[in-house]
Amino acid sequence: MALIVQKFGGTSVGTVERIQQVAEKVKKFRAEGHDIVVVVSAMSGETNRLVALAKQISDQPVPRELDVILSTGEQVTIGLLAMALIERGVPAVSYTGNQVRILTDGAHTKARILQIDDQRIRADLTAGRVVVVAGFQGVDAHGNITTLGRGGSDTTGVALAAALKADECQIYTDVDGVYTTDPRVVAQARRLEKITFEEMLEMASLGSKVLQIRAVEFAGKYNVPLRVLHSFQEGPGTLITIDEEETMEQPIISGIAFNRDEAKLTIRGVPDNPGVAFKILGPVSGANIEVDMIVQNVSHDNTTDFTFTVHRNEYLNAQQVLEATAREIGAREVIGDTKIAKVSIVGVGMRSHAGVASRMFEALAKESINIQMISTSEIKVSVVIEEKYLELAVRALHTAFELDAGSSHNE
Ligand code: ADP
Ligand code: ASP
Ligand code: MG
Repeated sequence: MALIVQKFGGTSVGTVERIQQVAEKVKKFRAEGHDIVVVVSAMSGETNRLVALAKQISDQPVPRELDVILSTGEQVTIGLLAMALIERGVPAVSYTGNQVRILTDGAHTKARILQIDDQRIRADLTAGRVVVVAGFQGVDAHGNITTLGRGGSDTTGVALAAALKADECQIYTDVDGVYTTDPRVVAQARRLEKITFEEMLEMASLGSKVLQIRAVEFAGKYNVPLRVLHSFQEGPGTLITIDEEETMEQPIISGIAFNRDEAKLTIRGVPDNPGVAFKILGPVSGANIEVDMIVQNVSHDNTTDFTFTVHRNEYLNAQQVLEATAREIGAREVIGDTKIAKVSIVGVGMRSHAGVASRMFEALAKESINIQMISTSEIKVSVVIEEKYLELAVRALHTAFELDAGSSHNE
């Protein structure tokens, strides 16, 4: 008998019929003798609807109140699922984050889980009940409702699994595992049997939204066995593991991630003195704007160009800050571009193979895709390109690194 945490995402609980299906599935698992804690998201589209509602009242909703609104989505699904279980003769009880007591910090709309009180859940499990917990939400030390950031129900699932020392955390969703890239963009994408925490962390942080990045961080830190599975199709899914198998078959690249959420800003004709990077980026970070990639050109006539990317939502803010800096330091101009995208190849196999980056650049060159910025780390290479070439780039790279279903590496 095992203790299993099962998380079901928005589309998996998107209609009453689906909630009934989930209840059937949970009932079957329980009949096998397992203790089950279920975490659910809001019904699909609901969180977006709630955000839109708040924005009709305020352009920039007060974060505390936004969290009060957003947390209602998950509260509906836990009640519905618990009812569906009880209707089937399965004893069940639902809890909001506050009721469990999922304690978080006070960073509204992006709170971090600090501690989970497992007493109530354990007592219910001992009494033979299935416990249904609202994903994506918690409560801070002052009793304010908080939410964990979009996609945060994954993190609730993993954090509960860690707190309860569950045998496995199963993330049920609308795809049957983690793929080499988003299967909705590349039809040739393949499901991975396994992926390392490290690679999954890079994939998530570089734009693959199949798992929230904090869920992967948490699972890695507490060594929670984590599996991504299809809610309504049988199959082994994808296991996220710590072991890096050094087999000959191991591909150099495990996956391709991409992200359309960034924008690029360039300040041109900057007098090139020591401290210039700090003068430019200091005010940006002072305005609480996170910077991703950074490039400084070689200087020419004692002036240089400096380019960086920020989240698209921060583009206008960053532009204002940068224009003020340009006036102050006597730079020539500020230009920007929001129609960019970042494409990244990820794989632990890169550590033992040279020439991976150049193979990437060659594949993009063959499609005449211009690379605007590059950044690398031990297990990833990212490039910024024009957004309109994004899908072409992902497909070309998928083929170039022999990831396509049916290609020699994978059969
Ligand atoms: P849920 O509502 O169940 O949390 P999400 O929409 O958050 O589901 O995540 C699942 C989606 O992630 C898939 O439908 C797929 O389009 C997308 N996705 C992006 N990258 C990948 C990938 N590498 N493997 C699988 N799915 C991916
Ligand atoms: N409902 C929340 C969202 O849409 C949390 C989640 O689905 O994981 O982001
Ligand atoms: Mg999700």
